[in-house]
Amino acid sequence: MSEQSEALQQVVGRIGASAQAVGRSADQITLIAVSKTFGPDRIVPIIEAGHQVFGENRVQESQGKWPQLKAKFPDLKLHLIGPLQSNKVRDAVELFDCIQTVDRPKLARALAQEMARQDRWPDLFVQVNTGEEDQKAGVAPGDADAFIAYCREDCGLAPVGLMCIPPFDEEPSLHFALLAKIAARNGLAALSMGMSSDFETAVEFGATHVRVGSAIFGARTPPPA
Ligand SMILES: *Cc1c(COP(=O)(O)O)cnc(C)c1O
Repeated sequence: MSEQSEALQQVVGRIGASAQAVGRSADQITLIAVSKTFGPDRIVPIIEAGHQVFGENRVQESQGKWPQLKAKFPDLKLHLIGPLQSNKVRDAVELFDCIQTVDRPKLARALAQEMARQDRWPDLFVQVNTGEEDQKAGVAPGDADAFIAYCREDCGLAPVGLMCIPPFDEEPSLHFALLAKIAARNGLAALSMGMSSDFETAVEFGATHVRVGSAIFGARTPPPA
């Protein structure tokens, strides 16, 4: 077994244990293996170990590695978890099976138009900036209900859930609880929350999707300055 697939099995085991601790079933939780910055040499062993769901944060980087992998392994599901610029919407709809970062009217309109044009319907999550951080994408918590209604009523989109990235230096559980509350009052079932450092807490707070990178693939080398 490769080092990464051992790490993957450990993460799967930890998800199972946290789910069990709060009376949830592990099948309610999708592990997204976040493979950004890693090449096929590191990704293929994880696929061969049986894992099929991956996350990337950049459209352009993904175009360089995933079309070939998807051709070879047709059951793979790819989630976009990074910000999406309107000029990349066409490429994103072509490549991704789920787009987790819908956060503004212009993007929602562009997605609706492009999904209809391609007749391809990736799942959509609305990203909420639960910490209201200036540098972070996502709709503010106070604007979330109106934005979800806009997606549904004005764009004909049917988002399946919400996604958040809590502030680096705050207790994540408050953010997870807030995201769960916004989802519940808007009738959204899916919650994408929890990363390597806090996915167990996220599972306790109802995450249906956890996005785990470094705990599976190891530390990422920072991009050259
Ligand atoms: C990189 C990234 C992750 C994974 O982070 P790790 O700490 O390596 O698990 C999760 N979510 C988003 C949005 C990311 O960009």
